[in-house]
Amino acid sequence: MSNSQVASPPRNAALPAPGASDVFQLLRDGQPRTRAELAQLTGLARSTVALRVDTLMKLGFIAPYGGAVSTGGRPPSLFALNSGARVVVGADLGATHALVILTDLAGTVLAEERAALNIAAGPEEVLGWLAAAVGRLLEAAGREARELGAIGIGLPGPVEHDTGRPINPPIMPGWDRVDVPGLVQRHFAVPVLVDNDVNIMALGEQATAWAEVPELMFIKVATGIGAGIISNGQLQRGAQGTAGDLGHVRVPRGEDVQCRCGNTGCLEALAGGPALAAVLSREGRTASTSQDVIDLVRAGDLQAIQVVRQAGRDIGDVLATCVNLINPSVIVIGGSLAQAGEHLLAGIREVVYRRSLPLATEHLRIAPSVAGQRAGVVGAASLAISHVLSPEAIEAAAR
Ligand SMILES: [Zn+2]
Repeated sequence: MSNSQVASPPRNAALPAPGASDVFQLLRDGQPRTRAELAQLTGLARSTVALRVDTLMKLGFIAPYGGAVSTGGRPPSLFALNSGARVVVGADLGATHALVILTDLAGTVLAEERAALNIAAGPEEVLGWLAAAVGRLLEAAGREARELGAIGIGLPGPVEHDTGRPINPPIMPGWDRVDVPGLVQRHFAVPVLVDNDVNIMALGEQATAWAEVPELMFIKVATGIGAGIISNGQLQRGAQGTAGDLGHVRVPRGEDVQCRCGNTGCLEALAGGPALAAVLSREGRTASTSQDVIDLVRAGDLQAIQVVRQAGRDIGDVLATCVNLINPSVIVIGGSLAQAGEHLLAGIREVVYRRSLPLATEHLRIAPSVAGQRAGVVGAASLAISHVLSPEAIEAAAR
């Protein structure tokens, strides 16, 4: 039996009916273009392009672009993305903090609010605060709720992205399988996209510094350790959304170290912030959190520097396998422990360059996060923007 008999094509395999979005997708990059250029680039008839430009203008997604005047006669009609057409919200809800931003479609921040908020307070309280904050941000930016296109949310635990429900999140009591989009939509009837914190950090880092890099891994090193994987320019979530969960990969050196997950030798149990703090406190330092470890490193404590460097090597052990497996061109190191500076990066580089295949590391860059503590919130907004500007959403709006 051949494969073609086994696999029936998906029901939506037919090409979507041509509509406004094919023209729009070309304008998403912000470059102004004429109708003639759009016709040439899409291969559509000029009359068809003219209709689609009209539709998109009525929706407000594109606007005439001023400035260019031809020599004599009418100015050429240039069109560009109207980044003010809608606003979106990005929310980074951490274990003990929350940061929410309102942006336009180019990602420009129009207003923001932060709060010390305990995720363990439960979904009603946390999402109630979020809805109120969104209201305040809209008011501060002078925008109406009807201009809101989508809300992106990052949560500190595993999330089933398709439904927006957290699944068995260890540090989020009361959130298991809760319909997060449904609760938010009680206040704002817009699409709500939810993902885990590492994935939104990867998207935020991509939007901030690596828009032209299609193969990127973002590594968050904090209390936990995880990766956001971007391949072919797209976030890879895997079948159940757990792709990139590096924290519980076994490291040989840690054979008898107990992890909170019940196994032994997990990367997180060796190289996570609390693990490093525990090593240092056994050596007589006062340390219990990632921040304590960072403070000791910054104060020049040699033992703390060595512990962080060894954590880098342990992480590098696991990353060397990842590099051989998926061949990224950039690995970005973020999360709170990345603030320990070069020492963590040095340990990671040492092992990755030694243990990965030469061809895979020939052009590999291992870099500190540029977006830093804003990676998550920028990524959450980016998730929302991508949804508003997707062909499906543009077609639905044009109907
Ligand atoms: Zn574990």
